[in-house]
Amino acid sequence: MVTDRKGAASEERLFNFSPGPAVLPLEVLEKIRCDMLCLPGVGSSVLEISHRSPAFDVILAETREGLRSLLGVPDTHDVLFLQGGANLQFSMIPMNLLRGRQEPADYVVTGTWGAGAAKQAALEGDVAISWDGKSVNYDRLPTAEEISASPQASYVHLTSNETIQGVQWKSMPETGDVPLVCDASSDFLSRPIDMSKMGLLYACAQKNAGIAGVTVVIVRKDLLERSPDALPAMLSYRVHADKDSRANTPPVFAIYVLGLVCRWIQDTFGSLEQLAVHNAAKAALLYDELDASEGFYAGHAAAECRSDMNVTFRLPTKELEKAFVKEAAEQGLVDLQGHRSVGGIRASIYNAMPLAGVEKLRDFMTAFRLAHGTGSAEAAGGRS
Ligand SMILES: *Cc1c(COP(=O)(O)O)cnc(C)c1O
Repeated sequence: MVTDRKGAASEERLFNFSPGPAVLPLEVLEKIRCDMLCLPGVGSSVLEISHRSPAFDVILAETREGLRSLLGVPDTHDVLFLQGGANLQFSMIPMNLLRGRQEPADYVVTGTWGAGAAKQAALEGDVAISWDGKSVNYDRLPTAEEISASPQASYVHLTSNETIQGVQWKSMPETGDVPLVCDASSDFLSRPIDMSKMGLLYACAQKNAGIAGVTVVIVRKDLLERSPDALPAMLSYRVHADKDSRANTPPVFAIYVLGLVCRWIQDTFGSLEQLAVHNAAKAALLYDELDASEGFYAGHAAAECRSDMNVTFRLPTKELEKAFVKEAAEQGLVDLQGHRSVGGIRASIYNAMPLAGVEKLRDFMTAFRLAHGTGSAEAAGGRS
């Protein structure tokens, strides 16, 4: 809500392309507002009740069940609700799965977040970089042949969607008996994923699944045995699993919102398969515009690695990129600037970004190109 100088509130919602915290479904926001003062049948708000109360027992169980049924999480895996964001997982993963082991952990580095995860893991144990896309500016993923994975590795880590560069794995590589560990922060709940192949999957919630404050960790139960006894309790997956994610006060509100998002996906799309079709169609609108632009919009990601969540591209000059972001904002399309480390434009089009928002952005892109691109009066003027 924006308050103007007279103190009046303007409640018009814009199309928000923020990479995270990011757009939430309107229905979820309305439900939060509706139940904010008093959860039906409880007599208090979700912000005011004990995390060990029967009412919160239900919220926790429903959120976990929502995740289990959408993702098809098998009984072999536990679902944990932790804090500290995906960044804390960069350290907790090697603390729990690598500490004290002979064999290194393999890291497939496909962008900024994967590089960050590998860096933190190296503080904790032996890390082998199985592939690093740095030399190609993280514009593509490795082929199966390019990954130098060890069959004895303690685990293989990858990032299913690199939020900053906009490259996304379309299918997970085979890792045999080596546990696959996946940072799914920015495409969590956006498409189906074969959980039976996952050793550990983690995601902060504020991109696709809710609000900042909760990080979901889905871990194969046998891997919990690796957690060293000497670990501080709050850093141990085994402790969190034993205590049902309530070793201490969990982020109750963020868990509640995550549960609402799961229900919204179920009610609106029916399944992650259906949602993935919807997301791919949204992304295709923008990629088709890039492809039709004759290079005016230069996509960052190689075509076969394009992300359905974060669409990244450049314009011919920095000045045009600035004008693009400014003029888009004037039309109610906000937060389109790329990450400060890479520049350019990034449109984050998570689950909750409506099709209408993507269509409006596509139409804006077409109009902007015709006004400023090759063949426009401005470009023709520049040549004469
Ligand atoms: C946003 C993001 C992170 C960082 O999440 P925090 O909750 O801020 O720690 C890590 N990995 C990926 C892929 C992300 O998109």
